[in-house]
Order: sequence, then C-alpha cells, then structure tokens
Amino acid sequence: MTRALILGGTSDASVLAAAIARASIDAVYSYGGRTRAPADQPLPTRIGGFGGASGLADYIRREGITHVIDATHPFAAEMSRNAVEACTETGTPLIALERAPWIKASADNWIEVVNVDAAVAALPDAPANVFLAIGRQHIAPFAAKSQHSYTLRFVDPPEAPLPFAADVIVSRGPFTLDGELEMLRTRGIAWIVARNSGGDGARAKIDAARLLGLPVIMISRPELPVRLRVESVGEVVQWLGHRICLGA
Ligand code: NAP
Repeated sequence: MTRALILGGTSDASVLAAAIARASIDAVYSYGGRTRAPADQPLPTRIGGFGGASGLADYIRREGITHVIDATHPFAAEMSRNAVEACTETGTPLIALERAPWIKASADNWIEVVNVDAAVAALPDAPANVFLAIGRQHIAPFAAKSQHSYTLRFVDPPEAPLPFAADVIVSRGPFTLDGELEMLRTRGIAWIVARNSGGDGARAKIDAARLLGLPVIMISRPELPVRLRVESVGEVVQWLGHRICLGA
C-alpha cells in the first residue's frame, strides 16, 4: 500500500496535493510552520519540523511512509538535504518536484551570485532604492549596507523588529507584470535582489526588471545531493504508480 509524505509549503506542492487527493492516494502533507496561515490542503496535514534527518527517519517509520516527495521551495536546502539522508537511512523512495530555474535572457541585466553575502557585496556603495525580493530569514546581512532604502515584501507582517529600517509590503502574490511595473516605478527602485526560484508565480518582477532595464542581483540555487528530480505533478503521480486524473 502506498502512503506518501509530501514535504510542501509551495504552490507546486498544493497542485500536487490536489492531484494526489483526486487519485485517492493515501498521503500526508507537511508544512514547515513558517507561514502563519498556510493554505488548506485536501489531505491530512501536519505542521512543524521533524527534528532533523533522524527525526524525519523516525516519522517515516512510525507513520508507515512508503514514498517521500520533496516539493519544498528550491531554497529550502536543509529540508531537502534531510529528506535525502532520512530516505537513504530508511530505504524509502524519494522524488523531488522542483521547477526549473529561470534562464537569463539577452535583455536581462543580471549579476549572478552564489549566496546572500555575495548579493550584499554586489550592491553599490552609493545609496539607492533596493527591492529585496528574498525571504525574511535572509535579510539580516543587508544591514551592512544600511545606506540603501530597502523595500521588502512578505507574506505575513513581520513579528519581530527588522534588522534595519525598511518599507514593508505585505502580500501573498502571485504578482502580475503590470503590478510589478507599477510597484518598481512608484518606489523608484534602482536595484532588485532576487533568488532564482523559477516558476511563474514569482517571475513577474524579473520580467518587469527586464522591461525597465533594472539590474537584478540573482542568487543561484543551493547545491543539493543528487536525487530523482521531476518538474511536473503528473510525473510524480506516475512515479507513485497511479494514473494522473485531470481535475478542476
Ligand atoms: P529549510 O531552511 O530547508 O528548513 C529548515 C527546517 O524547517 C528543516 O530542517 C525542517 O526542520 C523544517 N522544515 C522545512 N520545511 C518543512 C516541511 N515542509 N515540513 C516539515 N518541516 C519542514 O526551509 P525554509 O527555507 O525555512 O522553508 C520552510 C518552508 O517554507 C518549506 O516548507 C518551504 O517549502 C517553504 N517555503 C520556503 C521558501 C524559501 O524561500 N526558502 C519560499 C516559499 C516557501 P527539522 O530539521 O526540525 O525537520
């Protein structure tokens, strides 16, 4: 009997959960617990960390999980590494549902960097209006360049004081090209810092930057251990041994 564990927290994971529910596959959806009001899922849901790779291995054994699907965000590297380790330890098949990264087009003005510290270093010294399109847990290093006026955008209002003064937009997205163009223009944004998340939901800011000729400091994805990786929900459902049911 199949009993799948979906490591979720992304819009792709929600689409997958809907397909798995339609296919009547026994599955549990897991949230990391960072978002205050996570979207409802059509599957039994659990919330919060497992306690590292060994905690996840214990969970897999205890819950009789037969397949693990890592549908976390491409930058959720710790969870993805733990999944590889726990699945290796328990001999559980693992697949990653991971959207392709964005590819730089000729009209893009990207400065590609490997991590957040390199993104801070790539910002100019002269004060500028900067849109930091990265998660709140990664913003602290930008305090080193406090001469800039930062715009941040979060799903939830910040609970703790920010490490530097910033203008905060609270919005869940997805964002449209027109909306992003207006936001960048009205705030006079001169630089964007983004992570190469890939997918459609977050790419409007990248398209808007191209149209406005703005430089984007693009943080590359973290290196992850080799694992089976697909880009479509249908491939995951097939991997689980079921036929994909197209639904609403
Ligand atoms: P992370 O740094 O890789 O994970 C940190 C720890 O959070 C993990 O070691 C694990 O704790 C717990 N965790 C993460 N995802 C989990 C899940 N789906 N179920 C149960 N525990 C989970 O991850 P993150 O970047 O903080 O992301 C946390 C969640 O937000 C993920 O579900 C991710 O898909 C979602 N998300 C992240 C981003 C992003 O930019 N990183 C963007 C959108 C959504 P234990 O070690 O205790 O098991």
